[in-house]
Parts: sequence; structure tokens; C-alpha cells
Amino acid sequence: MRGIALPEAEPVEFWVDGDGRLTRSRVPGAATVVDGGWLVPGLVDAHAHLGISEPGRPLDPGLARRHAREHAAAGVAVVRIPGAPSPLPVPVAADPGLPRAIESGRWLALPGHSFQGWARHVTAAELPDAAVAECLASGGWCKIYGDWTVSDETMDGPLFSAKTLAETVRRVRAVGGRVAVHAQREEACRKAVAAGVDSIEHGLWLEPDLLDTMARNGTALVPTLTVWADRLDQVRAMPPGRLRNWLLAGFNRLPKLVAAAHEAGVPVLAGTDLPPGGRIAREIQHLIDAGLSPHAALGAASWAARRFLGLEPTLAEGAPADLVAYPEDPRRNPAVLTRPARVIIRGQVVR
Ligand SMILES: [Zn+2]
Repeated sequence: MRGIALPEAEPVEFWVDGDGRLTRSRVPGAATVVDGGWLVPGLVDAHAHLGISEPGRPLDPGLARRHAREHAAAGVAVVRIPGAPSPLPVPVAADPGLPRAIESGRWLALPGHSFQGWARHVTAAELPDAAVAECLASGGWCKIYGDWTVSDETMDGPLFSAKTLAETVRRVRAVGGRVAVHAQREEACRKAVAAGVDSIEHGLWLEPDLLDTMARNGTALVPTLTVWADRLDQVRAMPPGRLRNWLLAGFNRLPKLVAAAHEAGVPVLAGTDLPPGGRIAREIQHLIDAGLSPHAALGAASWAARRFLGLEPTLAEGAPADLVAYPEDPRRNPAVLTRPARVIIRGQVVR
């Protein structure tokens, strides 16, 4: 493979070794699969659920494979799954032609929060143990519902306290795990940030005064703008009320907050949340529309996300051969992101 590699924009030439890794040493008899164009380290969807459809229903293995294929075709080599009804079936999780999945076990939520059948409901006292168990049973992450806002009545519902979340973070870190928190209400965002969690998912009403603390602690923001855009018409059609107003105002404010987060040094990551898979280009475009530079928006779905997840961020000797090739510089023409010329995951040509 040869081309101009991002983020440095330097010409590179790589072969793939027998372990699916990049090497600068010539491999005898190798076929050229990319000859020119722009090469980007395999994309990351940092918030995507595979194999789910109706809330509360069990994970569907066939659907999980389909969603994983959709992600792969879009150039996504890694999917972080923040919560699932059950672990990904082994044939999907271990298929070398499908994205690597970083799982986080079942969603953890207070009784009454999230969906019956999906979430593992726990009290505040039970949360730290449950979070450790989900991390150990999955890919080292756990996912906690910091709030649950589905009706006017739920908007003032109970939350895990900052103290409970901080204790959970401490316990999870002790086993090498990490903590993702779904937070939309200002108060839920505030408690999660104070607790020093690893990522805030959605962050609809995250206040700008928290951004410096997030940057200092390395807490990422995954705004999932794609799913908000998808929900806009549905929310507009809701009966007038507190929740509707709050959601619409939240959608309006979020892009500016996302740009401010990036400016403040908060890792902003691309995540598309709900199926179908393969919509990462849309999320990158939403990040650009929010005010991130095309370079930063692409990084949010590639090198910056890889670094945040502890993966090799760049195309380098010995790194897993995860890369996407585009005919033009995707930062100059983000439209090419929707049609990669080539996708290679763990050394396998998948497109
Ligand atoms: Zn989600």
C-alpha cells in the first residue's frame, strides 16, 4: 500500500505481514492493494450498538453481524460498544474481517432507568461492584446511565451521586477498567465530570465551565450528533411540554458546546449510537458543521479516538493493518468519506 498518510500527510509505503500488521519491509509476492491516494488509520466509532432493534429485546446475532459489516464497509475498524443486552456473539466478535469490538458489558442503571430487559438495574450501593464485574467480563469498559430523561416526570428523577460515581471510578481503575457515563441533564454531567469518569456520552446539557476539568482529567465527550439529528423530527412532533423544549434547546446548543470542548482540549470522539452501522462519515460531517476543523473532525473518528482507546494512533511499523484509503484528501473534500476506495481491517481487504 502506498499513499499519503494522515494525520502527518506524509508519503508512506507499507506491506502487511503474516500477523496482519504493517511493516516497511518488503513482503515477497505481495499484491498492491492501494496505489496512491490518502490513507487514514482505521476509523473508530466510539459509541455504537450492534445487534439491537426494539428496546428491551435480546441482542440479535444476525443483526449484529449486519451492523458490523456496515461499519466495516464505511472504514470503521474499531467499535466501542457502550452497553449491550448481552456480549457480542463470538463469530462476530472474532471475525477478522469485521471491526474489533471494545465491549462494556450490560448497561448499568438505577431501577426504573433505561429499558427493562436491557439494563442491569443496581442501587447506588451496588454500582461499584457491578461496574467492576461488567469491566472484567467485557472489553475493560463499563457503561453507566447517569440519568434517564424520557418524559417530563423523569426530568427531575434520581441520579447516582458524584460520590458513588467517584467510588465506582476508583474501583474500576483498580482493575484496569474505564467508565463511560450516559449524561444529558446538566446535573448528571456535573456529577460524572466531578467523579473523573473516562467519557461523557451525549452531554446534551453539559455546561462549558466543566470543560477545563474534563481536559485536565482526559474525560472525553462523545456527543452522538447523528442520533440527535435523526431524532429531531420525532421530538418536534412530541406534545408541547418541558421535555420537548429541553430536548430542542439542547440540540441547538450542543454543536457550539462541542466546538468549545475541542477548543478546551477535551477529546471529542465520533459516535453514531443507534443502528444502522456505517454512518461515521455523517458524524464527522456533523462535527465539522459544529465548528471543528476537518482535520480535527476526522481525527475524532480516527487517530484521536485510537489514542484515547489505547490503540496505535498512526500508520506505523508493527501497528495493526487498519486503514482506509480515499482518492482525495478527505479533509479537503469530506464527501469522499462516504465512499472509501479501500478498507483494510487487521490486514484483510474488506472493501
Ligand atoms: Zn448508546
